[in-house]
Amino acid sequence: MAYYKYSNIPVGDNQAHLTVAGSSIMHLVLLLFTLLLAFGCSSDDQRVYICKGPHSLRYHHSAHCRGLKHCSTELTKLSIEDAKRMGRNLCGYED
Ligand SMILES: [Zn+2]
Repeated sequence: MAYYKYSNIPVGDNQAHLTVAGSSIMHLVLLLFTLLLAFGCSSDDQRVYICKGPHSLRYHHSAHCRGLKHCSTELTKLSIEDAKRMGRNLCGYED
């Protein structure tokens, strides 16, 4: 990770302070990274899109699917497990 390259940090009386500041930024970056991994691109918990309209029965892998063109409400992104729990089936245009 590029964040280990703090080659421009001066060594001196301020070192302790800078190390603490750098460390908390590191933790924040790591936290964001973990959150991204947990909620963003986990393949076990795949994200799909559904139309919230009352007649919608499908879920979609793509927000730009042609099956969503007639959707009159906003799209909701949720896990594929939640979509199935709501009784949704995979859109007929996708496989
Ligand atoms: Zn679709």
